[in-house]
Amino acid sequence: TEELLRKAEKLNVAGQLAAGIAHEIRNPLTSLKGFAKLMCHAGDDNKQRYYTIMQDEFNRIELILGELLILAKPQAVQYLPHAPLTILEDVIALLNTEAVLKNVLIEWTYEADLPLVLCEQNQLKQVFVNVIKNAIEAMKDGGSLMIHVRRCPEGICLTFIDQGHGIPEDRLPRIGEPFYTTKEKGTGLGMMVSFTIIEEHRGSIRYESQVGVGTTVSIFLPGQEGNCQSSQ
Ligand code: ADP
Ligand code: MG
Repeated sequence: TEELLRKAEKLNVAGQLAAGIAHEIRNPLTSLKGFAKLMCHAGDDNKQRYYTIMQDEFNRIELILGELLILAKPQAVQYLPHAPLTILEDVIALLNTEAVLKNVLIEWTYEADLPLVLCEQNQLKQVFVNVIKNAIEAMKDGGSLMIHVRRCPEGICLTFIDQGHGIPEDRLPRIGEPFYTTKEKGTGLGMMVSFTIIEEHRGSIRYESQVGVGTTVSIFLPGQEGNCQSSQ
């Protein structure tokens, strides 16, 4: 029940979120206003310097809004049967270059005849991107990311096992809180968005971690019964 309460709190983030967004965007905006003013009277040398700082601030706003856009749902979201494996494959292809550059080896295994999942493909893609990026970012000196996809009583389970720095136990409940980040350039929005998306798919996310050893993220999604990948 404690976990249920925690989830309820996570879903009830609208007010907290609005306040957070306002705050996170006001900071770069204030800075932009200041530098725009300075620009007016600056010589060419300084103009270039101010411009570079302003670019960073613009990028920051863009990053924050970009992470939230996936939740904005401009059109009706369509849940269609998809093979999570195919979606995962796309995401790995997308992130593999970045992984290789950071000395991270992504390996994966999967069971045959996995059920299809009723899902919004792009949202699920976003969740996998967020989880894999966090794993890569946690392995500063490289390492391996193992991904297992298998059947479970709920339907399907995806496990992401990294060899990163891990998360202290008392910090685990904070993951998924809007703007909770331990990274210098983090937004702290990735997992909040991911938790929301998975909840909307009637699934769940579980974190297990050991400092200095690594983190395991498990995503459970309900399967569409009577269907399996090979029948598509
Ligand atoms: P961000 O990546 O922008 O910091 P997230 O919501 O994606 O925001 O993650 C929030 C925080 O959770 C991270 O800053 C990090 O401290 C922690 N975290 C998430 N995944 C992992 C992981 N695989 N290994 C270690 N820490 C993690
Ligand atoms: Mg992240």
